[in-house]
Amino acid sequence: MTAPQQTKPIEIPRRGLMLVISSPSGAGKSTIARNLLEADSGISLSISVTTRQRRPSEIAGRHYHFIDRAEFDMLRDSDALLEWAEVHGNFYGTPRKPVEEAMAAGRDMLFDIDWQGAQQLQEKMAADVVSIFILPPSMTELQSRLHRRAEDTEEVIATRLANSRAEIEHWHEYDYVILNDDLTAAFDAVQSIVKAERLRRDRRHGMFDFVSKLLTEQPVL
Ligand code: ADP
Ligand code: 5GP
Repeated sequence: MTAPQQTKPIEIPRRGLMLVISSPSGAGKSTIARNLLEADSGISLSISVTTRQRRPSEIAGRHYHFIDRAEFDMLRDSDALLEWAEVHGNFYGTPRKPVEEAMAAGRDMLFDIDWQGAQQLQEKMAADVVSIFILPPSMTELQSRLHRRAEDTEEVIATRLANSRAEIEHWHEYDYVILNDDLTAAFDAVQSIVKAERLRRDRRHGMFDFVSKLLTEQPVL
């Protein structure tokens, strides 16, 4: 008996995707981002630099690169950051090099950044950016999620809640808006967006080659 022939799926070369996720603090973007990174090996996280204090659950170099203000200023002034912003009194920025490498290699990257960062990436790399805004079901639920997370002091939680309205006002600048009431449903929606955006014609530059070869092929009758 002959073994069944294994055919390799055809892969069409495409540009990498810059998946930007924003939300007011506590709406669930980090949870959704973490689930996506676990479920999809084709996407990697852009690890930001920040001047804020590390939370007990965070690992340096995995969630953030924790740096001081002098280091931050040095990176920003030497153009090593693709975008940066001051959020809740701390500084955050996206290191440029890993993003440029991923895009050149056609790999997808996830950015957990605020509206100011989303705007800067949109301005600089509009063709590659797909942006998603996550909304909480209510302000009361947002407050209780911040408390349930139990990683910040009461003072920090109060600042974040006070800033949440200003973040939410930017919801309409995003390509997609997801209400994170049920986490499974919200995560499903994010996965559907990624799946569809990877299939967009304008991202799949390898389709030109594929179609020209397809049209020169003469089927053997
Ligand atoms: P963000 O990154 O937007 O600040 P997190 O992802 O840290 O928010 O979520 C804040 C808290 O809310 C966490 O404790 C998380 O487990 C919880 N959470 C996230 N999504 C939901 C949801 N749909 N229902 C209930 N709790 C949620
Ligand atoms: P947190 O302190 O909760 O981790 O993040 C606070 C806010 O800063 C969140 O809205 C998060 O998305 C945003 N943020 C994290 N990293 C960056 C970054 O590199 N750039 C910008 N602009 N915002 C960031």
